Formats: sequence, structure tokens, C-alpha cells
Amino acid sequence: MPIATIGIGANIGEAIATVERAIAALGELGRLTARSSLYRSAPWGKRDQPDFVNAVARIDTALAPRALLSALQAIEARLGRVAGDRWGPRAIDLDILLYDDLGFEDEALRIPHLHLFERAFVLEPLAEIDVSFEAWRDALPMGERASVERIAPAE
Ligand code: ADP
Ligand code: MG
Repeated sequence: MPIATIGIGANIGEAIATVERAIAALGELGRLTARSSLYRSAPWGKRDQPDFVNAVARIDTALAPRALLSALQAIEARLGRVAGDRWGPRAIDLDILLYDDLGFEDEALRIPHLHLFERAFVLEPLAEIDVSFEAWRDALPMGERASVERIAPAE
């Protein structure tokens, strides 16, 4: 079965709880095989907004890429995301980072995700669950890596 790697982010409301609920919801789309710790990251793009909580998870899924994107958007809506908050604060953001070793691009979907290899909030959690991304993480500029920290489990 295909393996999909999903990036998760949230920065309004109870962001930690929302990210945990999103990870649980991913289990409805296939079999959850891995999940990272939670990380706190400084916002990209519009900087004047709360820090993000981020994580990465993996599922074995029978859903094809576009069906998976639709299913992720349905989970986003269910968890309180409203339209028109691109770059700005959002209750939840679910992105397809990788889908097996597929390369795909149309107007609505690009895989691998455009910013996969340049953002610490993706590569830190991804390297935690897949050592083959450690070299990518280690290649990030120091300032970028410093923008992300693992949230202590007790928090
Ligand atoms: P962000 O780029 O911050 O994730 P949005 O979540 O608002 O912003 O996504 C905007 C659009 O990005 C979505 O409507 C979706 O069609 C498109 N998109 C392109 N590639 C992907 C991907 N790999 N995963 C999720 N969305 C994607
Ligand atoms: Mg998104």
C-alpha cells in the first residue's frame, strides 16, 4: 500500500490538542505507522502571529493523492479551519509532504511538497521518524534550525 507522509501545523486555539486530534483523524484514512513528537516553530511568511505547533505523521493508505488531499481538507474543515487564512493564523493545516517516491504536479497539488527541503518545522519532525532525512535537516541554515524546538512531552 502507498505510504503518505503528512505535515501538520496549527497556531490558533488549542494548537497542541488540535494537532493531536488531527493525527488521530489520519487513522481514518489508512493505518497510522509513525508520528513525530510535537514541535513549536516561529511563523513563516506573516511573522506577526502566534507560534505554530507542528508534527509529521505517516499512513499506509489506499487513497490516491488527490483523494487524499480532499480527505485532508475535510479533516481541516472538521477541526475548525476557515477559508482564506493562507500564510496567516490557522486552526489546522494538513499537507501531503511525500507520497511514496511520487513526483506529481497539477494546479491543486504538488508532491513532494514545495517547501519540504527548506523548512525546519518539516525536516525536524520528519528526521525524527525517518533517519534518511537527517542529512536534509542537518543541511538547513543554523537560523532556520533554531526556529524550531521540540515540545517536552509533559507540556
Ligand atoms: P499552505 O501552502 O500554507 O499549506 P494552504 O493550506 O492554504 O496553504 O494550501 C493552499 C493550497 O495548496 C491547497 O488548496 C492545495 O490545493 C495546495 N497544495 C499544493 N500541493 C499541496 C500538498 N502537497 N499538500 C497540501 N496542499 C497542497
Ligand atoms: Mg496546507
